[in-house]
Amino acid sequence: MPNLPFRSLAGHLIRNTLGLSLCCMVAVFVVQAAIMLQHHRAEFGHLADEVAKTSVPLLSVSLWDIEPRAVQQQVDVIAERPQLGYVLLQVGTGQTFEAGDASLRGKPGSLRVPIPAPQGSSIIGELQLWGNPHFVVTEMLHTAWTVMAGYGIFTLLICGLIATMLRRELQMPLQRLAEFASELTPQTLTQPLSLDRPRRASLDEIDLVADGFSKLQNGLRQHIANLDQMVAERTQQLEALAEANHQLSITDPLTGCFNRRTLEPRLQEEIGRAQRYQRPFSVICLDLDHFKQINDQHGHPAGDAVLRATAEHLRQSTRFRLDWVVRLGGEEFLVVLPETVLATALQNAERLRQLLQAEPLWFEGQRIDTTASFGVAQWQPEQSATELVQQADALLYEAKAAGRNRVFPAA
Ligand code: GH3
Ligand code: MG
Ligand code: MG
Repeated sequence: MPNLPFRSLAGHLIRNTLGLSLCCMVAVFVVQAAIMLQHHRAEFGHLADEVAKTSVPLLSVSLWDIEPRAVQQQVDVIAERPQLGYVLLQVGTGQTFEAGDASLRGKPGSLRVPIPAPQGSSIIGELQLWGNPHFVVTEMLHTAWTVMAGYGIFTLLICGLIATMLRRELQMPLQRLAEFASELTPQTLTQPLSLDRPRRASLDEIDLVADGFSKLQNGLRQHIANLDQMVAERTQQLEALAEANHQLSITDPLTGCFNRRTLEPRLQEEIGRAQRYQRPFSVICLDLDHFKQINDQHGHPAGDAVLRATAEHLRQSTRFRLDWVVRLGGEEFLVVLPETVLATALQNAERLRQLLQAEPLWFEGQRIDTTASFGVAQWQPEQSATELVQQADALLYEAKAAGRNRVFPAA
């Protein structure tokens, strides 16, 4: 989330409503003032007619009778009207009468009312009327206060209603939603969202958001569960791959026997065990006889098949998970027989020899006979792994030299 100051949605809305209301208030006041001004001008015109009808006949009589006091009284009465600021009566004789604020005299916008003689059509004087500017201002102020008070009360009520509704319907549930979302962790993902809203007959946007949120929670939960399952499956696959890789690194790909690299450490373990428990173990070293001829006569694939079959023979004819077979290289193998003394190992070697001799291999319709020569040795205390293998190997070559297809030392 960007590092910006927090601004409440409700506060923002209320401020905007107040601003708009204020603008409306000013606009209404300006329109109202313009209408009032126009109305006032029309009223002022009517006032002149009214003065002409009511006060001018009396003035006319008073002037004709030359009664200055009565004339002044009439002028004072006319000036008492709140709409009028200043009244000036000019008589044909040059005499003047006035009432009101004399400073208005000479300002534009005055009305003139002629005063005729009581009988006849001659004009004996003229009444000049100026409007009262304070009256207009007071009227406008009064209107302004009325508009402002009306708008103010209306705005306050609207804002109060909006604030209450926003707080109850929007702000509180949204705050709860935000709190809930910020406290959510993968461990608390199952925790249901509760907005504590009163029961209603319809749904609103908050309900839709809450519903969407709970759908998102479910989706995430399911996704995490799937991820867990996927991770478990991948781990299993990786373990299987690692195991297969390990098997490949320790076995010979053609025959499936342990490879030469594995011989040394495994034989060390065997020696360690034999030393610890003072137990015997023996090894049989064997090499196929005239294997080169098999390759030459039947082809290299046939030679491979013979190697595979020989390895299988060796595995099948020895103890499962106890004896183990290593391909030393080419057509030479080593069988390790734990818990076995030389005599028993010799018997085993003889059995293997007979088996190989007795079971020919069929490859693409061709019969291939194989024999092997064997050198057998029992591990002697203090003898190293290399020495033991060398001893068996030397015996094997003695068997070769003695005519092949035999076990050395002879039983
Ligand atoms: P000996 O009786 O003296 O042991 O004679 P030999 O022919 O068995 O032994 P030699 O060492 O003369 O020949 C071994 C042959 O084995 C030579 C080589 O081409 C063949 N060979 C080695 N590894 C493989 C293999 O993985 N597959 C096949 N088909 N032949 C192989
Ligand atoms: Mg050979
Ligand atoms: Mg060889």
